[in-house]
Amino acid sequence: MNYKLLFFYQGSISELFLLLFAENLILAILAVLMGAMLLKTLGKKFEMPDKREQKYFGLTVIINTFVTYLGFLLWNYGLIHIHLTLDFSVLTDFIFTVLLMDLLVWLLHFILHKKPFFEKIHYVSHISKKINPASLFVIHPIECLMLGFLWLSVLLVFTLNIFSIILFLVFHVILGIIANLGTSIPSSGNHFLSVFISPAFRMEHCKRGSGNFGFYTKVWDNLFKTLSARRTNFAKDTL
Ligand SMILES: [Zn+2]
Repeated sequence: MNYKLLFFYQGSISELFLLLFAENLILAILAVLMGAMLLKTLGKKFEMPDKREQKYFGLTVIINTFVTYLGFLLWNYGLIHIHLTLDFSVLTDFIFTVLLMDLLVWLLHFILHKKPFFEKIHYVSHISKKINPASLFVIHPIECLMLGFLWLSVLLVFTLNIFSIILFLVFHVILGIIANLGTSIPSSGNHFLSVFISPAFRMEHCKRGSGNFGFYTKVWDNLFKTLSARRTNFAKDTL
């Protein structure tokens, strides 16, 4: 079976899998490097993940490759539709995707903190003794698949602009790296920026083992009253 990549390149399916694996591996390494550089600018040292974290990091890259591969096949068979236009929908689709994924991931994270799911699956996201940029990829393979399928479900249901998808994926990695810096960053004092999650927000979640379930914003934690008790609203939350 052959595939047609971006309308100009043809190759075998196994070649596509290897290509997507390389892409996912490079992106994961670049994300961690970006986090390490950010830490350096803050005068902090990046600590290498231990063997257990490295194992989950590798598994996450493999599963992300599988999800990307599945997404590509679904698009190839006409089940996922995407716009290829450079217009206002880039912005509207991006905002829509962030809000929708933020809600869905908040919900999934909330459920995963219920006892049986935490003990069997989500505990992996909390194994890092010290949160570091690589922790973004330290998750249980089942949780990784759940997140992947959640993302593919959104793509199956909604027709999104390709540029908004790319923007969203970049946004996802940047926010993930910031959240997992493992050290507080100075508050900008900007009310709009305080809507987004921060390293302190994530550290508080890991310390308490509950609350602060948001992945991108604090919107749903505010609405569903799961924000850390010390920070009850946007105005007070200056993290
Ligand atoms: Zn958690």
